Amino acid sequence: MTQQAHYNPGLVAPVVRFAPSPTGRIHIGNARTALLNYFFARKHGGAFILRFDDTDAERSTEEFALGIEVDLEWLGVAPDQKFRQSERFALYDAAARRLKEAGRLYPCYETPEELERKRRLQIARGAPPVYDRAALALTDAERAGFEAAGRKPHWRFRLEPEVVRWDDLIRGDSHIDCASLSDPVLVREDGSYLYTLPSVVDDIDAGVTHIIRGEDHVTNTAVQVQLFRALGAQAATHFAHHNLLVGADGQGLSKRTGALSIAGLRETGVESLAVAAMATLTGSSLAVQPVHSLPELAGLFDLSAISRTSARFDDSELHALSQRVLHGLSYDAVRDRLEAHDIVGFRAEPFWLAARGNLTRFSDIADWWSVIENDIVVTALPSDFRAAAIAALPQEPWDETTWSAWTQAVKETTGLKGKALFHPLRLALTGRESGPELAKLLPLIGRARTLARLSPP
Ligand code: GLU
Repeated sequence: MTQQAHYNPGLVAPVVRFAPSPTGRIHIGNARTALLNYFFARKHGGAFILRFDDTDAERSTEEFALGIEVDLEWLGVAPDQKFRQSERFALYDAAARRLKEAGRLYPCYETPEELERKRRLQIARGAPPVYDRAALALTDAERAGFEAAGRKPHWRFRLEPEVVRWDDLIRGDSHIDCASLSDPVLVREDGSYLYTLPSVVDDIDAGVTHIIRGEDHVTNTAVQVQLFRALGAQAATHFAHHNLLVGADGQGLSKRTGALSIAGLRETGVESLAVAAMATLTGSSLAVQPVHSLPELAGLFDLSAISRTSARFDDSELHALSQRVLHGLSYDAVRDRLEAHDIVGFRAEPFWLAARGNLTRFSDIADWWSVIENDIVVTALPSDFRAAAIAALPQEPWDETTWSAWTQAVKETTGLKGKALFHPLRLALTGRESGPELAKLLPLIGRARTLARLSPP
């Protein structure tokens, strides 16, 4: 069986989905999957669905689901549609019935211990530990016997012993021999569903055209391709399996540990665009680079640029990238965030442009604004220097040339130059040893405040 996957952008608008289980907050590797799907949809004029795979009622929580929505929103990923699997059991039940009727879903009564024993024996014999399908040979009387003894069945999907092929949009020609796989369990003893069946039912129902996900799902693809067929899916679904992000220590990421979670990264004050750029570009042939908007990153995105080896995510690189992103953000890109710090009015834009290059994190901006706004008292200024600086202070209006005109005049009266001239002025005006260009800050501070800062305490 061949699953063709040559994507023809002219044909039909793609539908993609990001399908996290709300069993923890998403980490940067999950964000990679979300962003690749989102960019794919945006690039080809398609739809991006957020689907919560929450059939595992014990481990899924409402809080995690809401948290994941917050994380995506922070990244700038806006779903066109969202739904939860826990609201759709009727569909899964109907699909399970259909499979049972077609003889593709069969009841098994082995206990986990019995399965483990079989597995050990197979390994000891040097045979692959594949489920032996003993349950397929059970007679009605034997099944009734198990039921009478209080055993409940779990249900396995009978795989066709064939090689499933697909043209993976990232990995290229791919194939898996289903004869080497165990028939997967789709329904547990207690009637609950494992991930596989609901996922395929929803992908069919939502008209998902492209499944873009981590390569830990490659084996699932063979099973799912057979399920798509068994459930009568009309259109072929395309697959793309991207490499997985690993931490700086080479270890895989897990939602359960919370390592490199989006929420945690956000708390460190890192820019969301830097996180998105790292998540998207790491492990690809494209350089990790600062971007200034999500559409700009979407424009760089290319599934075919993703490499086949795992992608190492380096925390320290993220912080350096975040600063580079921050230093290049336009005023429009941060206007709302500045407003949240009460940085508004006609000075807000020139202030941002003056101060952004000094920021390690965005929140540092509040400090620089207070340098402009609040009283600063520096006592260490020698009185003759103070007097000379005040005497030379130009009248307003001030602009970015005022600083050099003023300091030139102070230089002439005091004979000071270089650091001896500039350092005390910077200290008097800002209370800091270093910071944004004074030529830009001075007109923002204004003459009245400058005079106050130069006057004796
Ligand atoms: N809930 C699955 C996961 O988080 C979805 C996998 C898929 O995209 O099919 O791994």
